[in-house]
Amino acid sequence: MTLAEIANAVQGELKGGQPETVISEVVTDSRRVQPGQLFIALVGEKHDAHSFLPQVASAGAEAAIVSRLPAEALDLPLILVKDTLVALQQLAAYVRQRWGGKVVAVTGSVGKTSTKDLLVQALGSSWSVRGTQGNLNNEIGLPLTILSLTGQEEILVTEMGMRGPGQIATLADIARPDLGIITNIGDAHIELLGSREAIARAKGELLYGLKAGGRAILWGDDPYLRRLGQEWQGDVIWYGRGEDCHFRLTSLQLEAESSRFQVLTPVGPLDLTLPLPGEAMVNNALAALAAVWALGGDVTRSGAALAQARLSGMRLEKKEIKGAVIRNDAYNANPQSMAVALAILARQPGEKVAVLGDMLELGPIEEEAHRQLGREAGRMGLAFLLTIGPRARWIAEEAARAGLAADRIRALPGREGAAGLLKPWLRPGVTILFKASRGMGLEKIIGELEQEE
Ligand code: ATP
Ligand code: MG
Repeated sequence: MTLAEIANAVQGELKGGQPETVISEVVTDSRRVQPGQLFIALVGEKHDAHSFLPQVASAGAEAAIVSRLPAEALDLPLILVKDTLVALQQLAAYVRQRWGGKVVAVTGSVGKTSTKDLLVQALGSSWSVRGTQGNLNNEIGLPLTILSLTGQEEILVTEMGMRGPGQIATLADIARPDLGIITNIGDAHIELLGSREAIARAKGELLYGLKAGGRAILWGDDPYLRRLGQEWQGDVIWYGRGEDCHFRLTSLQLEAESSRFQVLTPVGPLDLTLPLPGEAMVNNALAALAAVWALGGDVTRSGAALAQARLSGMRLEKKEIKGAVIRNDAYNANPQSMAVALAILARQPGEKVAVLGDMLELGPIEEEAHRQLGREAGRMGLAFLLTIGPRARWIAEEAARAGLAADRIRALPGREGAAGLLKPWLRPGVTILFKASRGMGLEKIIGELEQEE
C-alpha cells in the first residue's frame, strides 16, 4: 500500500513524504518499529504513543498515523486523523475488502482460542491459513491480525472477544467474515451485560455482521444459540449431539489425555481421535470440521489432521515438576470452563489436587457460581483442594459440605503460602490443576514450584 492509498482509506491528511511511498508493514508497538513500516500512534489509558514519535522516526519508520502533530519537527511523514484507533480499524477494513481470501471468525463465551487453534490445524490441511496470534481478539488485535496478512494466505481465522454490546458488531464490520462460529453462551462477563440473553444478543451480532451470503456454524446443544440461529435469516450449520446436527457426535470415549469419537457428517461418518482431554474440545473440533466442509475442503483429511492438534499456551498446558503432572489452565476462568477443567481432572489417574482461584466479573451470580463449583469439587474425590482468594473460599466451604474431609481443604486469601502447601504434592502419581481468572495470577505459583526443581 502507498501512503496516498492509506491516507485515503483512513480519511487522513498526508503531511510530508511522497504519496507513492510503499509501506511494508503496520505496527503499533514503538519498540518494534523497523525501517519501512507504518507506525500508528494509539492513545491508551496508560500510554499515549505520540510521545514515542521521536524514537519511531529514528528507528526508520516510513510514516506514522497520528491524531495530533508533534511539537518538534521530525523526519517522519505523518497522516493526520481524528482518532488513530478508528484509523487502524479503517485500514484493516480496507485491506480486508481488497483481500481475496476467506475469513472465519470465532466468538463465544468459552473456547474461542481453542477452537481457533483447531481451525488453523484443520483448515491447514487444505489451505494456507493464518490465525489470530495468541489471544489478539479485541478492537486492536483483530485489525492488527488482518494487517499482518502477507497476501500468501487463503484463509484467516480470527478470534473475536467482547466485554459489552456493539463490540462484536464493530469487529465483524472490519473482518466481514465468510463464516461465523459461536461456541456457546455462558456467564463470562455477565457482570457487564446483565444476563445470558444479553450475552447471546451481543455474541449474535456476529451473524448480522457476516459478509453477504456468509454462513453461521453454531453449537446445537446450546438453547441460546438455537434461538439465535432460528431468528437469523441466514444459513446455519449445526454441530453437537442433536439429531438434526449437520456434524453430529454419535459416540464419545473420553480418556485422561485424549478423546475418541464418531461424528456423522455430510460426507459420511468419521472415526476420529483428538489428543486433547475433555468433551468441550471435541465440540470445538466439530466446529472446525464444519468450517472445513463449508469452505469446500476435505473433511476426512482435516479430521485426520486433528489427531496431531495442539493448543496455544496456558490452556490446560501440561508440564511436570518433580514427577507431578501440572495442568496449567490459569489463563482464565468462568463457571463453564471451570466445570470442564474439573471434569478433566476427575478422569486423571492417581491423586488429584485442585488449586482454584476466584472467578471474576460474575456480578450477581458470583457467590452461587463458586458454591456450585464447590459442590462438584467436593464430590470428585480430591486428595487436596486449595482455594485462592476471597470468592474461592465459597468453593472450599461448599466442598466441605459436599463431603470432602476438612483436612483435605485449605482456603487462602491470596497466593501467599500456596507454593508451600503444594510442595508435598510434587511427586509422581499426582495431578495438580490450576485454574482461576487471569487477574489471580495463579501461574506465579507454578513459577515458584518450578524453582523447587
Ligand atoms: P478468552 O475469553 O480468555 O479469550 P476463550 O474463549 O478464548 O477465552 P479458551 O482460551 O479457548 O477460551 O478456553 C478457555 C477455557 O475454556 C479452557 O479452560 C478450556 O478448557 C475451556 N473450553 C474450551 N472450549 C470449551 C467449550 N467449547 N466449552 C466449554 N469450555 C471450553
Ligand atoms: Mg481467547
